[in-house]
Amino acid sequence: MKEWVSVLRAADAAARWHVHQRRKGVAEEPYINHLLEVASLVTEAAGGTDPNLVIAALLHDAIEDQQVPREIIVREFGKHVADIVMEVTDDKKLPKEERKRKQIEPAPKKSRDAKLVKLADKTSNLRTIASSPAADWSVKRRLEYVGWAKDVVAGLRGTSPWLEQHSSSMKLRHGQSNRSIRLWQPSKPA
Ligand code: ZN
Repeated sequence: MKEWVSVLRAADAAARWHVHQRRKGVAEEPYINHLLEVASLVTEAAGGTDPNLVIAALLHDAIEDQQVPREIIVREFGKHVADIVMEVTDDKKLPKEERKRKQIEPAPKKSRDAKLVKLADKTSNLRTIASSPAADWSVKRRLEYVGWAKDVVAGLRGTSPWLEQHSSSMKLRHGQSNRSIRLWQPSKPA
């Protein structure tokens, strides 16, 4: 029962910390939608057995986007949760290209929990690009993002077949056409 309390406290904290943040897509969804989607994906991927993983998913953008001090996460939710969040936090002081590269190269060395959060994060971002792309993102930019996300996901393989299946079967609608394209092929035929 205690875990339920912690998970809901994390959801409540995430809603407050990101209260003024919106997704980049035209729908401008409240940011908490993204955090709940990522949390829901990792919960299913881990078979509902790991409350700390769910809490880390809820808080995964708190440091990167809201500069929530790490110490607050340690104090409220424990060091293990804070460590996972740190593993998936980009250093915003680095130039964008280097930040993007840093998501690809060290990906295979990350902890299993960090890999699961990353996989769920990319799945959620790709869904948003497919359903509600940002108004100022050209098709070219969307495809570039998809290509980069594919490289990040490739480094996370072997973590959760269920989640990888979810990412690999994503479809992207682009422009005004109804033509859907596969984001990437799964490594093995389904
Ligand atoms: Zn995220």
